[in-house]
Amino acid sequence: MSVKQSKFNPINPELDELVQKHHRNPEALVDILMERQAQRGGVTPTDITDIARALKIPPSSAFGIASFYSMINLQTIPAKFSEHEISVCDGPVCWLAGSLELQKKIKGLLAENTDWRVTRTSCLGLCDRAPAALVDNNQVGPIGADSYHRLLNGWNGARHSYSSPLSGEVRVMLDKAGKIDPGSIESALIHDAYCGLSKTLTREPESVIQEILQSGLTGRGGAGFLVGKKWGFVAENKKQPKYIICNADESEPLIFKDRILIETNPHQVLEGMAIAGYATGAQHGIIYIRGEYKKQARLLERAISQARIAGWLGTNIQERNFDFDIHVHKGAGAYICGEETALIESLEGFRGEPRLRPPYPPTYGYKGLPTLVNNVESFAAVPAIMCNGASWYQSLSDWRTAGTKIYMVLGHVNRPGLFEAPFGVTLRQIINDFGGGMKDGSSFHFALTGGAAGTIVSDRYLDVRIDFASTADGVSIGAGAFLICDQTVSPVDLLKVVMHFFRVESCGKCTPCRNGTRRALEILDRLSEKKGASNDLEELSRLAQVMRTTSICGLGQSVSIPVNSALNNFKAEFNTALLT
Ligand code: SF4
Repeated sequence: MSVKQSKFNPINPELDELVQKHHRNPEALVDILMERQAQRGGVTPTDITDIARALKIPPSSAFGIASFYSMINLQTIPAKFSEHEISVCDGPVCWLAGSLELQKKIKGLLAENTDWRVTRTSCLGLCDRAPAALVDNNQVGPIGADSYHRLLNGWNGARHSYSSPLSGEVRVMLDKAGKIDPGSIESALIHDAYCGLSKTLTREPESVIQEILQSGLTGRGGAGFLVGKKWGFVAENKKQPKYIICNADESEPLIFKDRILIETNPHQVLEGMAIAGYATGAQHGIIYIRGEYKKQARLLERAISQARIAGWLGTNIQERNFDFDIHVHKGAGAYICGEETALIESLEGFRGEPRLRPPYPPTYGYKGLPTLVNNVESFAAVPAIMCNGASWYQSLSDWRTAGTKIYMVLGHVNRPGLFEAPFGVTLRQIINDFGGGMKDGSSFHFALTGGAAGTIVSDRYLDVRIDFASTADGVSIGAGAFLICDQTVSPVDLLKVVMHFFRVESCGKCTPCRNGTRRALEILDRLSEKKGASNDLEELSRLAQVMRTTSICGLGQSVSIPVNSALNNFKAEFNTALLT
């Protein structure tokens, strides 16, 4: 049936009921589409038109929104509903671990099996389990072609334990990892959960903001903005209601720290949000979590209901006349929703496209109201600060940036994983002290530091002390990930993988990023085959510069960081990629 025909037919009662279940709220469009998909394996154009009619929104808008999110399957509904899917990650860490070849192999092995389809996906946040995959939406890794038959039978792979600190670690946010049962509030309370909130409730909101400001805590999402300052902007705004949003979208390649923080101690994140609510005068909290983190979303939902029962969330918290509650919103597959204004657009039920700023969320955020957006790691640091004080937190670091950070070390090291340490560690320490040194037979060639939008650096940078200001010294910290590559990896190839990610995840709203990432990838495709044209390097650098200065949001603006650092630090390798 065409979309035009369907306008004259009654709305499918099943879909009408589904929409009714969501109170005919257009903000719930993505949830409704995901639920329809769960029933039938995908959504058809007729489904979308009927859902749009039931929501009283234009079908064209609903199509625009449905087609934005990668987890919504708009392809033909499989004839057999029981179809299973293995979605292999092609993020940089999985790529380094051979995921492209693996995907081809598994596809070949399952070619005759029509129950299964094999697809690709951007980084799943399972970098410590690379190569990783989603098997029927379950997180699995590390996978191998030899273990593929186990994948079909519900095998989950192996998980890292972060229960024991490594020598040299200073743990604040990971302090309770392995000590508490993340599914039990009783266990968390025995280990001082909600001590920070308890102390907070005895103080004036302004003094709480001052404490956070004096601690020097900076946003851990990558921007490094002072958390207390941001809280102050929201507190100053007298409009109500106000919102506290925890950004758990974590879709940048190499980054999985928020997943581990949620898995090891979900109450710490809820407590940090409640403290922020008290300090800023907000009563509503929302955790926006990436759709692939289903297990982690369930953990948070469980922790929220336990906290309500125990009187740490809800109304009149601990009889202190303070109301604050939290709900979890699941994304549907779009890296750009980690950008705070795109996240807000997505929460409002639209395509997750960044807004032009100013105004910033503290002034004009969710539903146009004052909104604080902080990352999971930022909220996770707050309870300990309120428990132990700003001076204690300052004293944890002997470097210019206060406190501790969660770092991820990946690639050709003996002990890939995650650790917590003060700011100011060097790449050499990250590799040797925390990563267990380079693997046998591997020697250091280069590192991608920070995350996908980070710097690509040579051994000249091994002793730079790293924090948010070290970008000026050539090494960015970003969200704290370090991909270590040995002599077998070419920086040209790695940059191509990074650019592929940017091209796939560019939301397309602005021309420089939409076209620039595509053009840059075409150049890198040529360079990685050693067929670069004589002006390709100059053109790549020019494109990066245009994207940096004219793109709307951080995604397009930051493409220049890996491009420029790679071109500057590895001139010879890029020159040999040109057609001679
Ligand atoms: Fe979208 Fe890229 Fe523009 Fe950001 S810079 S708004 S991701 S097109």
